[in-house]
Parts: sequence; C-alpha cells; structure tokens
Amino acid sequence: ALLQNKLLLGLLFTLTLAAFLGIILQLVIAFRKKMVATEGIIREMAITDELTKLKNRRFLRTRLEEELDRASRYGHPLACIFFDVDHFKQVNDTYGHEAGDMVLRTVGTTAQEQGRQTDILGRYGGEEFLMILPETDLEQAVAMAERLRQAIENQTSVAGQHQIRVTATFGVTCYSPGTTAAQPDLSDLIKQADTAMLEAKKAGRNRVGIAK
Ligand code: GH3
Ligand code: MG
Ligand code: MG
Repeated sequence: ALLQNKLLLGLLFTLTLAAFLGIILQLVIAFRKKMVATEGIIREMAITDELTKLKNRRFLRTRLEEELDRASRYGHPLACIFFDVDHFKQVNDTYGHEAGDMVLRTVGTTAQEQGRQTDILGRYGGEEFLMILPETDLEQAVAMAERLRQAIENQTSVAGQHQIRVTATFGVTCYSPGTTAAQPDLSDLIKQADTAMLEAKKAGRNRVGIAK
C-alpha cells in the first residue's frame, strides 16, 4: 500500500508539473503573438499620416529613393506628381480647422481612387501631397495629374452643414534613365515637381505644371 501511495503521489506530481508547464507555455505563446501584432501596429503607425491615413512623408522619401535606384538599375522611367490644395488657408479661415481637416481627407481619398495599384500616394506636408509613379513616363504622368486635378475639382467635402469645393495645383516631373543627363537624387526630383507646381500656382492655380 505504501509503494502504491508513493507511485500515485509521483504520478500526481508529474501531472501537476506538466499542467503547470503547459499553462506557462500557453502564456508565452499568447504574449509573443501580442508582441508581434503590436510591433506591426507600431510599424504601420510610423509610416502612416494620421489625418488622411495615407502614407506619410518619411515613407514617401524612403520609397522614392528605392524607386529611383530601381528605375536607374532597370532603365525604366519614374514620375512624380506633387500637388497642393489651392487657397487652403481660406478654407480654414472660413469653415474652421476641422472642416479643413475633412477637406484634406476627401482630397486624399479622391486622389487614391484615381491612382493605379502600383502608384504610391502620400501626404507630404500640410496641404501638400506626393504621388510616386513607377514605370511611368512624363506624358502618362501628366495625363494622371490632369485626371487628379479634375477629380478634385469635381469633389465635394461635407463638413457639418457645409459643402466645400476646392481645387489643387500640380507639378509633374519624370526621371528617364538614359535621356536625363544625370541621375537626380530624391530631393532633386521633389524639388523639380515642387518648382513646376509653384510655377503653375503663379500661372493661376487649378492646373498642371510640367518640370523643365
Ligand atoms: P496656395 O493656393 O498658394 O497654396 O494658398 P494656401 O492658402 O493653400 O497656402 P498657405 O501656405 O498660405 O496655407 C496653407 C494652410 O494650410 C495654412 C495651414 O494652417 C493649413 N494647414 C496645414 N496643415 C493643416 C492640417 O493638417 N489641417 C488643416 N485644417 N489645415 C492645415
Ligand atoms: Mg502649401
Ligand atoms: Mg495651398
């Protein structure tokens, strides 16, 4: 009887230990899963613009650098469209900052709908957006900018009881390996598109400017 009791006790101890280890293992697995999910959320937040949920400036710059390398390695064209909402300060001043935020969201959604799957759209700053168009020549990019311009011109943002219409001005540039004299870096490319956009602003806004 004593031997039987000892065996029984041993068995009980082993079972308890196994159950305990099982629970610890489950907890470790659940914790790791949560860690991986949290890491994913943090990584996504680091590249997302909170207001429009588009990609942010940091992501755009990193991606443009990668796309420039790819374009020059494979000899494919790469285009950029930079655009800025016209008289946006007036929207804020007339309807309030929250209505302005709503307009920026609508502009983002409208532009996203026009872009192709491979185009990368983001908010570059305040009321400025950048679209990166891999494998796209100047002519195609200008056509895309014109489509975006018309779509934004025809959209209406609803903020409370206000229905707000805005326009935007565009600057388009393209890097074509082989035809462009020197390979631009990402800042050169953004500057070219920005300069073309500013020229178009001077020419009267709500239009597409093409980099020289
Ligand atoms: P232009 O046609 O020359 O571009 O004129 P503009 O009024 O659009 O340009 P300006 O640079 O004078 O004003 C930009 C305004 O955008 C000022 C700033 O308060 C506003 N703005 C920037 N970021 C945000 C934002 O996140 N939300 C809102 N509501 N307004 C913003
Ligand atoms: Mg601006
Ligand atoms: Mg503006």
